[in-house]
Amino acid sequence: MSDCLFCGIAEGSVEADRVVEDDRLVAFRDINPQAPTHILVIPKRHIASARELGDDEGPLLGHMFAVIAQLAADEGLERGYRVVTNVGPDAGQSVDHLHVHLLGGRPMSWPPG
Ligand code: 5GP
Ligand code: ZN
Repeated sequence: MSDCLFCGIAEGSVEADRVVEDDRLVAFRDINPQAPTHILVIPKRHIASARELGDDEGPLLGHMFAVIAQLAADEGLERGYRVVTNVGPDAGQSVDHLHVHLLGGRPMSWPPG
């Protein structure tokens, strides 16, 4: 069994509040939400972070962003939303399995902290 938390969610051995699942990805609600909508979108295949992405992952990333746009519509985020992926310790990455945060439902400041 993998010791990666998000591989566990992808496989179904770790519980999560799933909102979308297909053959390539899972989307689930963040356990510690930072906005009214805070969903994490992960590839089912283990990829450590965006640092490991290359041209071969183009179709996967396009699919992830298409799903994010659909989720944002489903969540009523007409006023906008933020998409974030943290890479490495300075950015605050705490789980070493690529995940894209979808945040929305409140105004957000820039620059981020
Ligand atoms: P990062 O800090 O790596 O960018 O984001 C990791 C995110 O995963 C955090 O927002 C954290 O709240 C969330 N998270 C950590 N463990 C779990 C878990 O077991 N279940 C869910 N749903 N979210 C988690
Ligand atoms: Zn993993």
